[in-house]
Amino acid sequence: MTDLAISYTDVVAAADRITGIANRTPVMTSTTADAQSGARLFFKCENFQRTGAFKIRGAANAIAQLPADRRAAGVVAFSSGNHAQAIALAARLQGVASVIVMPQDAPASKIAATRAYGGEVVLYDRYAGPADPVANRLVEERGATLLPPFDHPHIMAGQGTAVKELIEEVGPLDVILIPTSGGGLLSGAAVTAQALSPGCRVIGVEPEAGNDAQQSLRSGRIVRIDAPRTIADGAQSRCVGQLTFPVMQRLVSDIVTATDAELVETMGFFARTMKILVEPTGCLGAAIALGRKIDLAGQRVGVVLTGGNVDLSRFATLVHAAA
Ligand SMILES: *Cc1c(COP(=O)(O)O)cnc(C)c1O
Repeated sequence: MTDLAISYTDVVAAADRITGIANRTPVMTSTTADAQSGARLFFKCENFQRTGAFKIRGAANAIAQLPADRRAAGVVAFSSGNHAQAIALAARLQGVASVIVMPQDAPASKIAATRAYGGEVVLYDRYAGPADPVANRLVEERGATLLPPFDHPHIMAGQGTAVKELIEEVGPLDVILIPTSGGGLLSGAAVTAQALSPGCRVIGVEPEAGNDAQQSLRSGRIVRIDAPRTIADGAQSRCVGQLTFPVMQRLVSDIVTATDAELVETMGFFARTMKILVEPTGCLGAAIALGRKIDLAGQRVGVVLTGGNVDLSRFATLVHAAA
């Protein structure tokens, strides 16, 4: 019936597999946020997710489906961000070894967190070349399975479970705003919304400095850009995926952008008003609603707050400089 990489059936199966590994996160509302946006906003708080971001959903779903003869050889991921920690923890919880390839100049706190979650960290020099050859060598030497951050059906379906929980809890929505990098969450969200809330517009939100998904959707082909300079460090991918893009083309209404200044403003809003800590990338969707960047008047709007991993000192510097 469909030639897309995933269907809603895959999201339902994923929800079952990740139960007990990923948290069912709360949905929060705020009359102040509603007044500021002119809409009714439902915030899906993945900043409260295990490892601090939604990525454990896809990671847990992918690891649960490793063929029995591949489990012993473990999994490999290359990431300095939320995917790394998600793979490390999801693997450990399922009794699978993980190796995470990270740049040697990644923040010490991220390297330490990945190790603490049980991942073996292999460092590489990012100025000497990309991580792929390092990861590929591990795959060849150990027979391990490489798990990419977004362009994989099991990852995409797992990420969709966040929006499944959201719609099941609050009912049909008019619009859903999704922070977007490679489009794993966006494609899982779009498939889910189509099934549970037909007619709901699913809109991806990218940093203005890195609008490759917007360019891709508008031009009808995958556009590749240079690594963008933005504080949204979870949305610095250079292009969307071969599997995520067709889903976006079919089911995503639009991609819009937020500036770094708008992200900082939104981080401050969440801390001041709702007493929650959201990382810059996690603020992309909310920035559109709270800044009234598109017309949402009177609509029921789901907003995924994708993560809360930001060093407190960095948070303080960013928000203080803007205050
Ligand atoms: C990975 C990530 C995203 C983007 O997810 P994609 O599936 O790559 O589009 C958004 N926000 C946070 C916090 C992330 O870690």
